[in-house]
Amino acid sequence: MNSKLSQSLKLLFLSTPVGPLGSGLGGGVELTLKNIAQALSDRGHRVQVLAPTGSALPDVAIVPVPGNLQVTAQTQGRDAPVIMPGDAVLAQMWEHARRIQQDYDVLVNFAYDWLPFYLTPFFDRPIAHLVSMGSLTTAMDQVIGQIAHQFPGSIGVHSRAQAATFDFAERCRCLGNGLDLSLYDFQPVPTNGLAWVGRIAPEKGIEEAIAAAQTAGIPLKIWGVMPDRRYWHSIEQAYAGAPFSYEGFLSTAELQHQLGQCRGLLMTPRWVEAFGNVAIEALACGVPVIAYRRGGPGDIVEDGKTGWLTTPDCVDELVAAIARLDQIDRRDCRQRAEAEYSMAAMGDRVESWLRDLLHKRDEGF
Ligand code: UDP
Repeated sequence: MNSKLSQSLKLLFLSTPVGPLGSGLGGGVELTLKNIAQALSDRGHRVQVLAPTGSALPDVAIVPVPGNLQVTAQTQGRDAPVIMPGDAVLAQMWEHARRIQQDYDVLVNFAYDWLPFYLTPFFDRPIAHLVSMGSLTTAMDQVIGQIAHQFPGSIGVHSRAQAATFDFAERCRCLGNGLDLSLYDFQPVPTNGLAWVGRIAPEKGIEEAIAAAQTAGIPLKIWGVMPDRRYWHSIEQAYAGAPFSYEGFLSTAELQHQLGQCRGLLMTPRWVEAFGNVAIEALACGVPVIAYRRGGPGDIVEDGKTGWLTTPDCVDELVAAIARLDQIDRRDCRQRAEAEYSMAAMGDRVESWLRDLLHKRDEGF
């Protein structure tokens, strides 16, 4: 039997190049990387992270890498070319990884960028790619698809809905996601109105959530990083008089405290959200989730049990679902998080993904 199937692994994580860890610019990938690093370290694996300068991650060794940040992929059109800034942090991270790869069993890529996929055949060590978004551009689909075929088992995704956006869906390993549930307090009785949590960006569709809260006459609190203030000002103007307030970008400890007080979380993405960490964070606090039946949240929410799924882009259905929030038992939400989205559950899935990849490489696939 191959010893790699049981021994502890040496893992090199390559972070998202769109922002330092802790800035929020990396969206859900930041929390995902942090939690996977912790889950695998807890199992005795050695994890080292390469990340843009300025990154901070408690209890995990980070090698800061200088260079210019990558443009976020969500803002580009389907035919968008691959863009690399001069002195790119992404290129420097992979140059660094190339030099130290012999010290590791597996490299894990968290960047939704063309370069790491393209470089995969040129590395000696296997690279596991955790793909954080669905299909966005032809260039990315092609390069991820090539690697999916050339290196079976190397592509991980967060949800079946995300995988279904690619024409190599059956080659994707579905890993879901997970949280340190001890950091999220179950709050049995809500004392506040509705919540919306996420990057304030057009693909996240905050407008419909505000419109639904306005019709329902229930205040909406909004938390998240705000990369583009002009976009936010346009929303403030369009919905002047609506009962919503921006509450800032909070630490996990503070966010879960505030979020847990809310009656429900609204998720109204315009795109196919790969997963939606905020959905499982809400469930962990006992907060039901109202989400469009689209993308990752459509996989996470059990309609009528842990929240309500509604027809995408339909504000009337959101309003009707808000009226039915009291029918959801908040204990079911927490239980769902404990069963599917604990660190242990995620650690099992990710660890077996990496071991299977190593096994396939050893077998010559
Ligand atoms: N988040 C946070 N503080 C806030 C609001 C959001 O730390 O005040 C984090 C949240 O915990 C989640 C991430 O921002 O991990 C958003 O990730 P999600 O997967 O929901 O969406 P993405 O931004 O990746 O599209």
